[in-house]
Amino acid sequence: MASYEENYLNKRPQSLCKMCGRCCRIVSVPYKYEELKKMASEGHEGAVDFLELFEPYDSVEDVRKIDNEAVDYAIKMHKTDGIYYEGEKFYHCRFIQPDNLCGRYQDRKTLCEHYPSTPWAIVPPGCGFEGWLFWKREEIKQNVRKEKEELLELKLLKKRTKDAETLKKIELVEQKLQRNIDMYKKYGSENW
Ligand code: SF4
Ligand code: SF4
Repeated sequence: MASYEENYLNKRPQSLCKMCGRCCRIVSVPYKYEELKKMASEGHEGAVDFLELFEPYDSVEDVRKIDNEAVDYAIKMHKTDGIYYEGEKFYHCRFIQPDNLCGRYQDRKTLCEHYPSTPWAIVPPGCGFEGWLFWKREEIKQNVRKEKEELLELKLLKKRTKDAETLKKIELVEQKLQRNIDMYKKYGSENW
């Protein structure tokens, strides 16, 4: 099976980035600031990296003055994904420059290098990757549908198969297909 890098990361057309800087200026995460600090103090790598780069805005009203649309959109998406919490905080990167270039590009963190790190990443409205991410999601959905069809065919094949060795092989393939489908469960693969 192709790796995450081969499947997704290396295929992202970086030229789609409009260098608007929104993803560095208006950022929110599904953890409260206190939780993040606690995670960082316990050595959680993602939290340590995040807090090295990002600092919170004093209030949502402050962020709204900068980019009301991005705030509304992030809250709407987080509510849809069930990761919104009352008093959600927004952050901005310490290194984003007024011309939207990264002040530590050569030394940026993996989280920046990988952004948007999955086809389900929540990107700001108008982000150059929006359309591409949509197609990547559709591609995955199509594969999952194909795998579901294969599962049905295997089910029929099993009914016709008497040989124990062959049955075992079919079951192994079934398990592999089911694992692939379950991998996308949190994105709704049961309903695709
Ligand atoms: S929001 Fe999208 S288009 Fe804008 S800088 Fe970030 S990745 Fe590029
Ligand atoms: S380090 Fe650079 S790429 Fe990463 S969030 Fe900050 S400005 Fe953006």
